[in-house]
Amino acid sequence: MPPGPPDRVAARLLRDFCKELMIPMICVAIGRSRHKHIMAEHRHLAEEGAKMVELRLDYVAGRINIGRLMANRPENCQVIITCRRREDGGKWSGTEEARQLLLREAIAEGVDYVDIEEDIAAQIPRFGKTKRIISYHNFRKTPKDLRDLYTRMAKCDPDIIKIATTANDPHDNLRMLELMQESEIPTVAMCMGDIGTPSRILAPKFGAPFTYATFHHERALAPGQLSFKQMNEIYRYEDINLDTAVYGVIADPVGHSLSPQIHNAAFHAKGVNAVYCPFRVPSDSLDQFIKDAHRLGIRGLSVTIPHKEAIARHLNKIDPPVKSIAAVNTVVFDGAETIGYNTDYNAAMDCLEQALGKVGAQPSPLKNKRALVLGAGGVARPIVFGLRKRGALVTVASRTRKRSDRLAETYDCKAVDWETRQRVHCDLLVNCTPIGMHPNVDESPMSKTSLKPSMLVFDTVYNPESTLLIKDSRSQNCQTVTGVEMFVRQALLQFFLFTRQEVPSSIMRDVLKKAIGPVRY
Ligand code: NAP
Repeated sequence: MPPGPPDRVAARLLRDFCKELMIPMICVAIGRSRHKHIMAEHRHLAEEGAKMVELRLDYVAGRINIGRLMANRPENCQVIITCRRREDGGKWSGTEEARQLLLREAIAEGVDYVDIEEDIAAQIPRFGKTKRIISYHNFRKTPKDLRDLYTRMAKCDPDIIKIATTANDPHDNLRMLELMQESEIPTVAMCMGDIGTPSRILAPKFGAPFTYATFHHERALAPGQLSFKQMNEIYRYEDINLDTAVYGVIADPVGHSLSPQIHNAAFHAKGVNAVYCPFRVPSDSLDQFIKDAHRLGIRGLSVTIPHKEAIARHLNKIDPPVKSIAAVNTVVFDGAETIGYNTDYNAAMDCLEQALGKVGAQPSPLKNKRALVLGAGGVARPIVFGLRKRGALVTVASRTRKRSDRLAETYDCKAVDWETRQRVHCDLLVNCTPIGMHPNVDESPMSKTSLKPSMLVFDTVYNPESTLLIKDSRSQNCQTVTGVEMFVRQALLQFFLFTRQEVPSSIMRDVLKKAIGPVRY
């Protein structure tokens, strides 16, 4: 590769320098209609430690005054000026001529960077010290020929190449991340949409000079964009480097998952160089995703709906209970081994045994207890298996009788109609349905009168922690176990399987409680 213009050489050197020193940067996009709000957010972000902002001129209503935006700008916070057309996801409603005039004006003003779309790059000449970000956007897909696209953009005199495409498949993330890794001109390549979120988080591991974030998570300027706060506080973006180990949850959908918050908090507390990402993986993309895992740097995964059963075909070793449960919620990649575990099983049993006496006692305090399990899905399965293994007498009630019959048959227990559940005499009640979960917090799977003081009531629903079932049970003087207890325990077990380290449960519990706090009730 020829050395290129001095600014480009400098930018490349800066990239290599940053790569080596591992100082990933977040560029926060500011899109506001009034100059004073742009300037206020810029100041605020600089105070919060942002080192780069993108001022989106296409959001400004009325006459745009770049000089005003740049006067009194905070020091140590570089500025990108962007004025995005509608076809590239922007809001610009003026003429193309006026838009290009603004970009030239920004360059004359000496802003640090100006964002120039690839197709107009030849019309906006390089001038002064302003660096050129040559950009490409695709809101439909991630093109197959990324390397060709990069080569074409490299001819547009860029200091930085920016490629933002839409991920329709998780494999698109890997293609974009590897493009960044291999590029000689500093390249910011990201996939938009929720499938693309990992490409934003993992950018520094693959050599990105920076990535984009939004000022506030409710004001994303591009699909799938995370906020500056989320990038910093949840993912600790600036700590991610080439050696960072990758973990994550695979699910579809995945946006609701609180696992990234609790696992990342645990990594931080233990000083582990690792990041935990939300990977949205549709069912038909699972096989390719597992093939890509190694190249993404993935060492372990939490597995949830719809992959708990399908993941089995990718494992070459399983923890013994997994065979009987036929569902995996944790995968560890250990050298050539891909090992499956079910931490829901251990977590639920530990919660119950602890409530009744002692974890792991022989015989188990669950022995001969009459248990009524509501629901026959993914969570009911390990719980019914665990209860039966400990000698409990289990009855399953499920809305779909066929499912409870199948579960009862598998684990040699009893099934009853959903409508008769209130009449079943039991010592232990376990809710494995989503009834009572946010936003349906006024619902309970059992009437208050059917709850007796002698009962232990375990609600696996964890959002909210105090479900109506838990509140009713407490008011009837029943002993209770909440879904938060189970969730934290299963996550602690996962964390141990991932890192072979223990983390105080209070760290995960506090983060979880904060995440499901008053806002989500
Ligand atoms: P799942 O596989 O979809 O099974 C849900 C079960 O609940 C099915 O038997 C379903 O019956 C039944 N159900 C759903 N809505 C119902 C309703 N309105 N009335 C009666 N029955 C209903 O889900 P899952 O993976 O087992 O998860 C169930 C719940 O467990 C989740 O919502 C979550 O709150 C909780 N959970 C907790 C943890 C934890 O760590 N605390 C972990 C995972 C899950 P049909 O077959 O008729 O649909």
